Amino acid sequence: MSQKIQAVKGMNDLLPVAQKDFKLNSALWQAFEDVVVAWTRSFGYHQIRTPIVEQTGLFVRSIGEETDVIGKEMYTFSDSNDKLSLSLRPEGTASCLRAVVEHNLLYNNPQKLWYMGPMFRRERPQKGRYRQFHQVGVEALGFDGPDVDAELIAMSANLWERLGIREHLTLELNTLGNQQERAAHRTALIAYLQQHEALLDEDSRRRMHTNPLRVLDTKNPDLQAMANAAPRLTEYLGTESLAHYDALKNMLDGLGIRYVENPRLVRGLDYYNLTVFEWTTDKLGAQATVCGGGRYNGLIEELGGKPASAIGFALGIERLLLLVQEFGQLAINNAPDVYFLHQGEGSSLVAMQHAALLRAEGLNVYLHCGEQSLKAQLKKADASGAAIAVIVAQEEQLNNTLTIKNLRTHEQQTVAASAALQLIQQWKKA
Ligand code: ATP
Ligand code: MG
Repeated sequence: MSQKIQAVKGMNDLLPVAQKDFKLNSALWQAFEDVVVAWTRSFGYHQIRTPIVEQTGLFVRSIGEETDVIGKEMYTFSDSNDKLSLSLRPEGTASCLRAVVEHNLLYNNPQKLWYMGPMFRRERPQKGRYRQFHQVGVEALGFDGPDVDAELIAMSANLWERLGIREHLTLELNTLGNQQERAAHRTALIAYLQQHEALLDEDSRRRMHTNPLRVLDTKNPDLQAMANAAPRLTEYLGTESLAHYDALKNMLDGLGIRYVENPRLVRGLDYYNLTVFEWTTDKLGAQATVCGGGRYNGLIEELGGKPASAIGFALGIERLLLLVQEFGQLAINNAPDVYFLHQGEGSSLVAMQHAALLRAEGLNVYLHCGEQSLKAQLKKADASGAAIAVIVAQEEQLNNTLTIKNLRTHEQQTVAASAALQLIQQWKKA
């Protein structure tokens, strides 16, 4: 026997049945996708699907050279034909905006868009953190806000409600101001960090000049006091930025959406300004952030488009579903309505013909395949979760009848084939 080939580390198979090291299954995932389609539709957002591979330059320009994602987490390779550097997408916003600029979608109208799909980052795999993971993202492009900021946050809250996990998530909110305000704050912050350089760990010292805000985002407990006392961006905000933030908070209050203001919330990627937010939970251990987003008004211009406002968020499907699985409510029904059994010469073809007729009437029908005793087949019918078994054996074939068995009540009737549908539907409803 040849050696088995295994999946790439940190990349999961999603199977009908959950596995020991990856506890999600495809039925839950599919039920979630159905919710996402209905949810985005109810807010009037339209789907966009972009390629999984993009030119590396797109991500470098949008996410920022100094971020961990670009610095060490991308899957990058060169296209052998034309030596172009390509990367698997580590997130969805850059691709989405690239497509919007390329196709001039903002020419006449603002756009409300959503996407869903796999993302790739070479991080250390652990529960809730993978190298291939999946996101749902929402982008509102061409709106200045703050109304759309509030709508987006309300939209995320509405999804948690639909999934039955609203009470397990906390909204953290912050504002990053505009570029000039951030620059003034940055200068003050670097000066402050330089005063405390002796305290800093290696990571923080490296980031001090490249991305000083990220130093404040440190998880190192020894640096918390220093980080807490650092100059705050709010002290550098002008009236416009403050007004945007206040208006957003007023609307959230009016919508009954509670939030915790977190002045240290900066987000991992470089492109944010004004509103930033995260939804976190205390139920997933270290991987606490389920959803993150914010405003990135400069990004469309940065990618070659005409200047336009933009705001969006992305949620991690794996983390969200781990939460839903344990605490939420998501109706999953992947059992067939009918399990079709057959026995005897020619019966499998007759079963197939009848199954086709039932499916045409909207029923989900699992056809037993292969030869087995009726008893063994009935066992499988029970295990399938179907409410009804339909049997065609020699007798039924001769008389053009079908035997219908109610697997819940064990009642059984043999009826003319033409009357089967009616009885099945009657029992299905009961
Ligand atoms: P984290 O702080 O957990 O690394 P992040 O700030 O890098 O998250 P974003 O880039 O904002 O995450 O992506 C949005 C969401 O995607 C996250 O809140 C999280 O739910 C999910 N996510 C990010 N990276 C991973 C990963 N490696 N595995 C699984 N989910 C992820
Ligand atoms: Mg990260």
